[in-house]
Amino acid sequence: MRGLKLARGGSPGSLRTTVRVGPLEIGRDFVLIAGPCSVEDEEQTLETARLVKRAGAHILRGGAFKPRMSPYDFQGLEEKGLRILGKAKALTGLAIVTEIMDSRHLEMVAEYSDILQVGSRNMQNYTLLKELSRAGKPVLLKRGMNATLEEWLNAAEYLLSGGNPNVILCERGIRTFETYTRNTLDLSIIPSVRENCHLPVVVDPSHGTGRASLVAPMSLAAVAAGADGVMIEVHPHPADALSDRGQQITPEAFASLARAVLDLAAYLKRTAGHDNA
Ligand code: PEP
Ligand code: MN
Repeated sequence: MRGLKLARGGSPGSLRTTVRVGPLEIGRDFVLIAGPCSVEDEEQTLETARLVKRAGAHILRGGAFKPRMSPYDFQGLEEKGLRILGKAKALTGLAIVTEIMDSRHLEMVAEYSDILQVGSRNMQNYTLLKELSRAGKPVLLKRGMNATLEEWLNAAEYLLSGGNPNVILCERGIRTFETYTRNTLDLSIIPSVRENCHLPVVVDPSHGTGRASLVAPMSLAAVAAGADGVMIEVHPHPADALSDRGQQITPEAFASLARAVLDLAAYLKRTAGHDNA
């Protein structure tokens, strides 16, 4: 694959990278990331954190800086939201992943976050990637909604070549002609990543489908395809959410999804030699 030096991998027997986040080694240990689309207020975030932790999640997600299509839509609580995430971490022990949209916010976001998320819209923001390559924190790099595998892995190469080996890829769906789903979740990309690259790769079926009813089946399909984890949007009252209302699932639905996903990952590790449960 053109351009890849440090990200290249996948040959039989070659080592896979694991990314350490607290006690977790992502790429070896299957990872469950869950939380609201946006941090809306303290009660919503702390309640979600408590419930997803109880259901078995390892990492709390939640946006404080939100990339919204319309400037009139909720843009996120910014630093106040980050402080709420910090509180959720202190309360539950969950590690935090949250999006960084602008390198001017790096110091602030890094103070509260264990993993820095690069959103789909910024996958090819090479200035941001260069800054994050020197951030000293793991990066969750979402696939651009129009990005090919080659473009995505080369975006990861920016992080690796700049000095940051701790990169986790995240498939979140791509734009196709289909409109029933928000995006088309490209699960064939999971084994394709594994054939070409040594980095861990997780799947976000929430943005990948845009429909709460499709999140559980596509989570299981992602595990079967070899994903190293899933990232799920969870909200105590999805119908009242300030962003991505149609795709967030309740904490109760997440608890049953978590059981099924963790069971399947463990089963595949025992029987099919998956190395990620
Ligand atoms: C998100 O995960 O909060 C998000 C905005 O997703 P994406 O960048 O994949 O659209
Ligand atoms: Mn969202």
